[in-house]
Amino acid sequence: MDIQSRLSEITRARYGLEAHGCDNTQLYHALLQLTQELCTGRPSPQGGRKLYYFSAEFLLGKLLSNNLLALGLYDQVDELLRQWGSCLAAVEEVEPEPSLGNGGLGRLAACFLDSIAALGLPGDGVGLNYHYGLFRQVLSHNRQQELPNPWIEADSWLIPTGVSFTVPFGSGPLKAVLWDIAIPGAHTGIANRLHLFDVEHPAPAPEQGIDFDKTDIAHCLTSFLYPDDSDENGRLLRVYQQYFMVSAGAQLILKELDERGIDPRQLCQYVAIQINDTHPSMVIPELTRLLLERGLSMNEALHQVAHACAYTNHTILAEALEKWPMSYIRTVAPQLEPILRELDRRAKSVFPDPRLAIIDDHDTVHMAHMDIHYSYSVNGVAALHTQILCKSELKPFADVYPHKFNNKTNGITLRRWLEACNPKLAQLLDQCVGPEWRRDTSRLEKLLDFAGDGQVLRRLLEIKRENKQALCRALRERQGITLDPESLFDIQVKRLHEYKRQQMNALYVIRKYLEIKAGHLPPRPITVIFGAKAAPAYVMAKRIIHLILCLEQLIEADPQVRPWLRVVMVENYNVTWAEQLIPACDLSEQISLASKEASGTGNMKFMANGAVTLGTMDGANVEIAQLVGGDNIYTFGASSDHVIGLYAHNGYHPWQYYERSAVKPLVDFLISPQLLSIGSEADLRALWEDMKGKDYFMALLDVEDYIAVRDRAVLDYGNRSVWARKALVNISKSGYFSSDRTIAQYNQDIWHLG
Ligand SMILES: *Cc1c(COP(=O)(O)O)cnc(C)c1O
Repeated sequence: MDIQSRLSEITRARYGLEAHGCDNTQLYHALLQLTQELCTGRPSPQGGRKLYYFSAEFLLGKLLSNNLLALGLYDQVDELLRQWGSCLAAVEEVEPEPSLGNGGLGRLAACFLDSIAALGLPGDGVGLNYHYGLFRQVLSHNRQQELPNPWIEADSWLIPTGVSFTVPFGSGPLKAVLWDIAIPGAHTGIANRLHLFDVEHPAPAPEQGIDFDKTDIAHCLTSFLYPDDSDENGRLLRVYQQYFMVSAGAQLILKELDERGIDPRQLCQYVAIQINDTHPSMVIPELTRLLLERGLSMNEALHQVAHACAYTNHTILAEALEKWPMSYIRTVAPQLEPILRELDRRAKSVFPDPRLAIIDDHDTVHMAHMDIHYSYSVNGVAALHTQILCKSELKPFADVYPHKFNNKTNGITLRRWLEACNPKLAQLLDQCVGPEWRRDTSRLEKLLDFAGDGQVLRRLLEIKRENKQALCRALRERQGITLDPESLFDIQVKRLHEYKRQQMNALYVIRKYLEIKAGHLPPRPITVIFGAKAAPAYVMAKRIIHLILCLEQLIEADPQVRPWLRVVMVENYNVTWAEQLIPACDLSEQISLASKEASGTGNMKFMANGAVTLGTMDGANVEIAQLVGGDNIYTFGASSDHVIGLYAHNGYHPWQYYERSAVKPLVDFLISPQLLSIGSEADLRALWEDMKGKDYFMALLDVEDYIAVRDRAVLDYGNRSVWARKALVNISKSGYFSSDRTIAQYNQDIWHLG
C-alpha cells in the first residue's frame, strides 16, 4: 500500500492539508488513524486453543512507533517524515502514554502481548480501562504530589466494539462496555486484541488530587488503578474492580466459544486463562458459576475451569498476597459465596492441612490458595523465585501438587527495549551479527566474536555517549537540569519500595557527599539518577522520596560537591522515561534485598542496552550473573538463604550494624543540620528511627559491601575499553531475556495454543 498517498488522503479529509504541510500534532493524529486502519485490517489467529491473559495492569507505553515497527512500516514512515522536516520521535511526543499499569507486573503483561502476537499465537489480554491511570507524579517542595493522569483523548488507540456485558453486583447490575486495543504481531500478518472493560458513564477527573467518591461504583469503578485501600471503601472498590473485570471477561470467553460453535463442556480444550498475580483470581468461581448456569454439573464445571486456568505468582511479600474477608465478597458478588464455600469444602476434604485452606478460620478468602487448588499450572517468574516458592513460601502446596509448579523466567520485548529505544545500537548489532537477531535473539551471542575488536568497542562507547547526551537534552527541557554526559550515569528507576532499597542507594550518596566534603574526591564525577513513584498511601516510601529530593537540593547548592556528585530524580517515571534513561545508563542499580525481588525486568532492559549491573543475587540477577560471568557484573550482599534464615529466626538487628563506624555517620546524616535545614524534621527523623531500629528490608546489613563494590565499579569505569567489553558481553547475553523466549516456553509447557 502507498503510505504517502493514504496519509495525504487522511490529512486532506481531516485538515484540508497535504501531509507535508501538517504540524506534528496533525501528523500524529493522521498516523494514528492510518496505523489503526492497518492493525484492524489484520486477521486474528484462528482455530485451536486460545489464551486469555487476565491482568489488572497493562503498562503499554506509547504505541505509535511500536505498532509501525510491528507493521514493518517504521523506516518508511520515519523517512517520509524526515523529508517533511519532522521524524517519528518528534511526532510521537504528541502521543499521551496509556496509563493502564503501575510497574514491572504491568509492563510484563504488555511485553507478553507483544510476543504472543509476534509468535503468531492466538491470545488476547483482558483488563480494565482506567481513565486516570495510577496517578501522574509531580515533585514539588521535595515531595511527591499525585494528580490524575487522563490519557484518553477523542482519538486514541481504543476501538469501540459495540459489545457489552452485564455484571451482576450485589448492589444491582452494571453494564461493562468493551473497548479494544489492537496488538499487531511483528513478522506476522496477524493482530490480537487487548480487551478493556469500562463502565458506561465514567466519572470526570477529580478536581483536586486523586480523591474521589469510592462508593460511587457505577461511575468511578474504572477511574483509577489501585485506588487507595487504606480504608474499607477503598478495599471494597478493589473487589468491585476485580469482579467487574473477571465477570465481563468470563462472559466474553463464553460468547467467543458460542461463536466458534464449541460446547462449554469442552471449554478447557479451547481456552487457556492465565491469571497474572491474584487480582483476577475471581475468574475461577465466576466462570464456574456461569458454567453451572449453562447446565454443567459442579464436577463438570470445575474440571473445565481447573484445566483452563493457570496462575503466575509474582511476589512473596505478605502484603501483596491478597486475601478478602468473605463479607466483602458477600457485598460485591454474593452469588460467589456458595461457590467459594464449595471450592473450599472440596479442597479441605482432600487436604485438611489448614495451611492449604482457601477460607481460613476468620472467614477470609486466600486468593492465591484458590488459584493453586484450581489451576493446572503455577509458575514463578525467575529460577530463584520459583525455588523459594517451592522450598519455603508455598512449600505445603508444592509438596501436594509438585506437578503444577514450574518456572518461567520473565522477559522483555527487545523490539521496544532495544530496536525502538536504541536504534544506533540496533544498527551496530545489524552490522556485527546480521539483522536476524531481531527475530532470533539468541544470535546476539555472535557479538562475543567482537569482544576484542577495538572499533566495535569504541563504537559502543560512542553510542552510549550519544544516548547520554540525548538524555541530558531531555532532562534540560523537561526539568531544567543540566548534567555532565561525561560523568558516570548510575541509574535506579523502578517503583519506590523499601525492599528495592532506594534508601541504601541514598546512603551511598551520603557517603560520597561526606567524602567529598572531607576532601576525598571520587576517581571521576558520578551522576546518580532516580525515578520512582510511591503508592499514595505508602508513608515510608514517600519519606524515601523526600530524602532523595533533599539530597538533590543539598548537592545542587554546593559548588564544592556538584562537580563530582549529582543527584537527580526524574518526575513521573513511566515507560517513555524508561526508554530514554535505559539506553543512557552506565551502571544499573538492581539492589533489592535477596529473596524479595521475584524477577525484575528493568535489570534485563538495562543489560540489553549495554549497562553493567550492580546487584544482589536476587530475582533474575542470578541468571544474568550466570550468563555474563563474574567479570561482567558487580554483585554484593547477603544471599537469599541467609536472608530467609534471618527472617525465620528474627536474627536481624539493625542497631548492631548502625553502631559500626562506617555506617553510623551515614544514617545519622538523615538528621544532620544540613538536611534538617532543607527537609521535614518529622519525616527525616522517622526515617532515621526506622533505619536504625527496624530496617525491615535490611539495608544496613548490606550497605558496607554495597559501598565497597560500587566504589570498585566506579573505579573500573575509568578503563574505557575494559568497560566497553563488559557492556558488549551483557548485550550479547541479553537474548535469553527476550519475552519471545518466555512466551515460547509458556506455550510449550502450559498453554499449547492453536
Ligand atoms: C520495566 C519497568 C518497570 C519494572 O522495573 P523493575 O526494575 O523490574 O522493578 C517499572 N516501570 C517501568 C516504567 C518499566 O518500564
